[in-house]
Amino acid sequence: MQYERILLKLSGEALMGNRQYGIDPERLAEYAAEIKSVVDKGVELAIVIGGGNIFRGVAGASRGMDRVQGDHMGMLATVINGLALQSALEDADIQTRLQSAIKINEVAEPFIRRKAIRHLEKGRVVIFGGGTGNPYFTTDSAAVLRAIEIKADVILKGTRVDGIYTSDPEKDKGATKFDFITFEDVIKKGLKVMDTTAFTLSQENELPIIVFDMNKPGNLLKVATGERVGTKVNL
Ligand code: UDP
Repeated sequence: MQYERILLKLSGEALMGNRQYGIDPERLAEYAAEIKSVVDKGVELAIVIGGGNIFRGVAGASRGMDRVQGDHMGMLATVINGLALQSALEDADIQTRLQSAIKINEVAEPFIRRKAIRHLEKGRVVIFGGGTGNPYFTTDSAAVLRAIEIKADVILKGTRVDGIYTSDPEKDKGATKFDFITFEDVIKKGLKVMDTTAFTLSQENELPIIVFDMNKPGNLLKVATGERVGTKVNL
């Protein structure tokens, strides 16, 4: 295995499958199988889950809602997704713990870094819900923050495209994919990998990011073994 400890970022939208909203149980089961293939190889895996399939603070704010109120709703949405993912992982016989950045003790453990690391060492998958616990941030920032805190070797950003392209491949047929790219070049070329706060936090802490297609069976394991899948952003 190329990596011993991985932080996997899954967006809330990824959990929708082909639905317009909410959570698709089949998609969750597929992801659980992918995750199991990696955990069975002894890789320590933590997951940060988004909430965009349920609620986004900015979307609420654009309709006149107080932004902070909306962001609290978004953070709770990530806990809902975390619970759904936890349930799917348990169905696949994977030991898990859900830790939340906002205290919701009857539902999830509070985020405690040392405890999270201990769980990982014991082979449990740790799901981080609640984002960073602060409004005006995203779960991409939470992913980078948690990855640094738990000393993950890499962030894997599971998306529905298979890497970073010169332009949006869903709109531009001539777009070409990068196998590797530097943080600097991503910024220079104005490419979108994560929001700026998350991206620069990763750059400053020399934490590589791999963007890959999470919906292609076998891909997660390939990335974990160091096969060239997706795009790797490095120094
Ligand atoms: N959120 C927040 N602080 C955080 C992380 C998330 O306030 O640290 C809120 C924010 O409103 C965001 C929503 O939770 O829109 C869902 O997270 P995100 O949009 O990152 O989810 P994803 O796009 O990955 O599904």
